[in-house]
Amino acid sequence: MGAPETPALEARQVTRALPLAGGFVQILRGISFAVQRGEFVALMGPSGSGKSTLLGVIAGLDRPTTGRMLVDGIDITTMPESRLAGVRNAKIGMVFQAYNLIPTLSAQENVEVPLYAGQHPGSPAVRARQMLDMVGLGERATHRPNQLSGGEQQRVAIARALATDPAIVIADEPTGNLDAANGENILALIAALRARTGTTFLVATHDQHVAERAERTLHIVDGLLTDSATPAPPPPAVDAVPELAPPPA
Ligand code: ADP
Ligand code: MG
Repeated sequence: MGAPETPALEARQVTRALPLAGGFVQILRGISFAVQRGEFVALMGPSGSGKSTLLGVIAGLDRPTTGRMLVDGIDITTMPESRLAGVRNAKIGMVFQAYNLIPTLSAQENVEVPLYAGQHPGSPAVRARQMLDMVGLGERATHRPNQLSGGEQQRVAIARALATDPAIVIADEPTGNLDAANGENILALIAALRARTGTTFLVATHDQHVAERAERTLHIVDGLLTDSATPAPPPPAVDAVPELAPPPA
């Protein structure tokens, strides 16, 4: 970790354009924000507004077309993938909108994967089982993803993201497929982690319950944060610049 004032996440004028039909479609159009360490920030916006794309850029899974992305003060914008994978593994837990579980592995084995990849102390098997218990899926540990409901797969994905105790958790609609009770469970888990380890959370969500628990909400519409979309006022015309008031006597 760097100096205490270093934000956990910082985007500077991030754009992302993708080639489409001989031209380009601009998906992110100049996104700037900072998330401080320990903050719980919700990201809300209509479907197609760019939430998943932005989370992908933040996690270093996709590159900005222009602008810079910093994680814990480290500029990951053009970092080679070999190094970036290390930063991601050391600092970020990611919950994907589509879960991205490995279909041939059991729930237990899916949660173990990042524990083998990283340097987390202790037994991966024991830790993975604890995480599954925590999301209420201890009984389903041996089931493969296709033997689990959407909501259960979502909880496995959450257990996997949290297993390594990452400093920063980026979650894409993590309660989207959960019933009220399980959604509430996940919110309680987030609250407990924040209290215990000061984990930073950035959560894309449509769920008003999630947004209510967040300290702050960023709103994205059509690839722009509306909170910061107001353009800076143009500089005043030269002959309109007011005289500076004389210093107080
Ligand atoms: P959200 O998560 O807010 O629903 P997304 O980030 O998934 O939005 O998508 C934002 C916009 O970018 C949508 O219009 C979507 O169709 C488009 N988009 C996303 N990924 C791609 C891609 N790989 N190629 C072309 N367009 C894409
Ligand atoms: Mg999405």
